[in-house]
Amino acid sequence: MLNIGCHLSASNGFMQMAKDAVSINANTFQFFTRNPRGGKAKDIDKEDVKNFLQFSEEHNFTKILAHAPYTLNPCSADPKVRDFALMVMKDDMLRMEYVPGNMYNFHPGSHVGQGIDVAIEIIIEFLNQILQPDQHTTVLLETMSGKGSEVGSKFAELRRIIDGVKLNDHLGVCLDTCHINDAGYDVVNNLDGILDEFDAVIGLDRLKAIHLNDSKNPFSSHKDRHAKIGEGTIGFDALSRVTNNPRLCHLPFFLETPNDDLSGFANEIAKLRNAYKF
Ligand code: FE
Ligand code: FE
Ligand code: ZN
Repeated sequence: MLNIGCHLSASNGFMQMAKDAVSINANTFQFFTRNPRGGKAKDIDKEDVKNFLQFSEEHNFTKILAHAPYTLNPCSADPKVRDFALMVMKDDMLRMEYVPGNMYNFHPGSHVGQGIDVAIEIIIEFLNQILQPDQHTTVLLETMSGKGSEVGSKFAELRRIIDGVKLNDHLGVCLDTCHINDAGYDVVNNLDGILDEFDAVIGLDRLKAIHLNDSKNPFSSHKDRHAKIGEGTIGFDALSRVTNNPRLCHLPFFLETPNDDLSGFANEIAKLRNAYKF
């Protein structure tokens, strides 16, 4: 069975997201831990969490994926910005322990002129402050498109971060198809070559989730604008080859496509399930 879900609004709690997921034939979902600006998160509602844990088991959910506010910059040159990112992520880690065994994705950040080497050192130090030996959440580094001065648009950069982090048993990677396409990994014509490279550089055992998105921009554009599945430059067939790839088909897939409502995601999920061969 294809493990697939989409990004949902967290404003009404876990149980509402789980019900929304079931209503579109999804068995997982992604959500922001707090508003994208990174403000204060809502208090965890223990009753909501308890209901969710039971419901998700009854409906055969796979792991869910939390997403850090995308405005955080853990490798900013400004110590205040870095401290804010640290505070938010530390708090998110504590909150994730209420739904143990799931995943938390974040953008490594933008080096804004400091250079990639300095940024990687900062991110390593950042993660060394975040990760705890006894935590039950796997933290995922997202592959980025390389717009502006983003870190993480090359597999080798993610590998360097992972290598530098002490408790890297708690680290994995989330591969975003729009981002890697825009970064210059040819999803349409060279998926197997990309996976060979990922395996050689990072190791496929680190790959824990896929953001399945089409792209509004051409290959290697370094842009990052998501398109609906089948309406971008990657196209339905290439994205269906991603879900059907024997090295990827077991992973959870998360749509971050520009749909206005649940029916748009339901449509994409139906088409991808229909084309799934396993
Ligand atoms: Fe992201
Ligand atoms: Fe993404
Ligand atoms: Zn994106």
